[in-house]
Amino acid sequence: MRVIKPWPTECPICGSPLAIGPLQLPGDATCPKCAHVLWFSMRTSEGALVADVITGKVATNQDIQRVSAAFLSRSNPPRVILNLSGVQLVSSSFIAGLIALNRRMNDAQGKLVLCDLSPIVRETLAGAKLDRILTILDTESEAQAFFQSHFGQQEA
Ligand SMILES: [Zn+2]
Repeated sequence: MRVIKPWPTECPICGSPLAIGPLQLPGDATCPKCAHVLWFSMRTSEGALVADVITGKVATNQDIQRVSAAFLSRSNPPRVILNLSGVQLVSSSFIAGLIALNRRMNDAQGKLVLCDLSPIVRETLAGAKLDRILTILDTESEAQAFFQSHFGQQEA
């Protein structure tokens, strides 16, 4: 059985509280207020934003602009860790979304780091030669260490 963790309690885009729960199929769940497809939940850790990916099957690319804006409003320059431990597979549209998100974070002088990839997801990205574009690390603590060494202390 698939465990969805952690289920978002509020929409990461508009901040609207969510009454839905894991009984609803992941990927089908959308925010009732802004219609954002809930493909990740968000938390902050050591000054970085951590997005825990819930599903890798949705057409992420559709709302990358809104997702980028939400990241930027919380962390600027954006330091974003995408934790993929919750997904076993990623769709091609999800990957396209990752590339778009990566570019937007770079454009904002920030950085997107991927971590905790399943072997299949890692293979999928490497097969598409995306391991050259995206920053992929093994664990979230390695991602945090990456930010510490590349960005140092973030000014308040
Ligand atoms: Zn929303």
